[in-house]
Amino acid sequence: MDYNALAELLFPDVTETREDMEARFPDRNLPQGAAVTRIGPSPTGFIHLGNLYNAIIAERLAHQSGGTFFLRIEDTDNKREVPGAVDIIINAMEYFGVHFDEGAVSDGDKGSYGPYRQRQRKPIYHVFAKWLVQQGKAYPCFYTEEEQNAIREKQKEDGEQTGIYGAYAKYKNITLEEVKERIDRGESWVLRYRGEMNEDRICVDDAVRGRLEMPRNFMDFVILKSDGIPTYHFAHVVDDHLMKSTHIVRGEEWISSLPIHIELFKDFGWKIPIYCHTATLMKIDGNGKRKLSKRKDPELALAYYQEEGICKDAVWEFLLTVLNSNYEEWRIADPEASYLDFPFTTEKMSNSGALVDLDKLNDVSKEVISRMSAQKVYDQWLEWCEANNETWAELLKKYKEKSLAALSVGKGGKKPRKDLVNWKQTCEFMSFYYDETFKGEDDINEQADEATRKEFIARYLKGYDHKDPQDVWFAKVKEITTEMGFAARPKDYTKNPEAYKGSIVNTTNMLRIALTGRANAPDIWEVSQVLGEECVRERLGRMA
Ligand code: GLU
Repeated sequence: MDYNALAELLFPDVTETREDMEARFPDRNLPQGAAVTRIGPSPTGFIHLGNLYNAIIAERLAHQSGGTFFLRIEDTDNKREVPGAVDIIINAMEYFGVHFDEGAVSDGDKGSYGPYRQRQRKPIYHVFAKWLVQQGKAYPCFYTEEEQNAIREKQKEDGEQTGIYGAYAKYKNITLEEVKERIDRGESWVLRYRGEMNEDRICVDDAVRGRLEMPRNFMDFVILKSDGIPTYHFAHVVDDHLMKSTHIVRGEEWISSLPIHIELFKDFGWKIPIYCHTATLMKIDGNGKRKLSKRKDPELALAYYQEEGICKDAVWEFLLTVLNSNYEEWRIADPEASYLDFPFTTEKMSNSGALVDLDKLNDVSKEVISRMSAQKVYDQWLEWCEANNETWAELLKKYKEKSLAALSVGKGGKKPRKDLVNWKQTCEFMSFYYDETFKGEDDINEQADEATRKEFIARYLKGYDHKDPQDVWFAKVKEITTEMGFAARPKDYTKNPEAYKGSIVNTTNMLRIALTGRANAPDIWEVSQVLGEECVRERLGRMA
């Protein structure tokens, strides 16, 4: 077979060469050891936690080493594509603070290694596909879909491996004339790799999993589909070579296709990048672990975290704890450091199912928010409200100073309060600070009978001086508490309940419920300072 003639027949319009492509995508000018990484999500409209998990790894590898991190849209499967999906990906990554140096942007590309949408790279793939044909490494295959389905069914029945290989590769050795006739007749074809049946094995040092050894590829896998669009395998190899990716961070489901990728890299004589096959995200279900499922687990979708207003720093922090076994230790040693200062390494990554536990995420989130400055909390909370809750966004803007003061309550010190879990819950938690959203939640009558409560609050208001420092204020509360027959120390009351009407817990709870609607709320004196004298008097007055 004259492979050059076959190549011309299949790709008459391809005039550029491999060398032209190499010249168009020159080596990057980066310092020694700088990693070039990417994520390659498909625009299916569903972007999930696994995408973010891989994005964080890839981003860290690149930016920790002074390298480049880019976004490539892998849209080779147009059946799964939904309109607007690219924006969904970009917005989600932006929400989580994952910044690309180059790649697809909303209305085009940024960077000089594009296009960054694979379908737009079709002519590039064809240059390399043509070269493979010229080398006798690829051939057109004319099976119809029905024929292929029949082969697959038969293989399944006979317990054989499915796919086109060995005797099933009927078009592997047909003549140039036959190819020509079929093409002239308008038959559609796919370009297949000419696999070899032998006992060789491949060996790859995966950065996460260590040495992977497996049988080499023997399949005549598809390189180009009938519409000329490449398969994932071919696009991955060509793109990651031309775009100079040094590390391929992707899910472990790709390990089984590794022999295909290695084969292609070797045929082209290209350097094989460092593979980092990441663990599948799992959750505890009943007594066991299982894969997170799109259908059953809302927390798989990144949209879930956006809708619930889960703080992006918390998601990072949480994923880093899942990713690197030494992260928590590092965090304890330096609670104030930015998570971006953590020296992330692939060696410390777990390779057996990364566990996603929402309770743990919430704990991490409380911790993270408690360590943030009031201003940062305000900014992120407002940003979320602006996108998700207009009424609250308006409130926050109208009462900016008060909100900042309210967010400072319980901050600082060794044990900052951990009331805030996510931005949606923050709206709920903070509602008592604003007259527009204040509501009674707990029943004040559980603390004392009506007459006692009215008397207590009336006396409190009479002696109330908004300018009192906290200790003076507290001394006054204590005084009225004891004068009215409540124990100043809760344990005195517990020991001798007959002797008292209740304890200081009940009197302060009355104040708390009157002021905040709840028995469980931050420090009364601090809250009062934020609410302002007028509001304090007004809310208490209603209960007196
Ligand atoms: N498009 C592939 C996926 O969504 C990306 C795999 C890769 O990063 O190479 O799984």
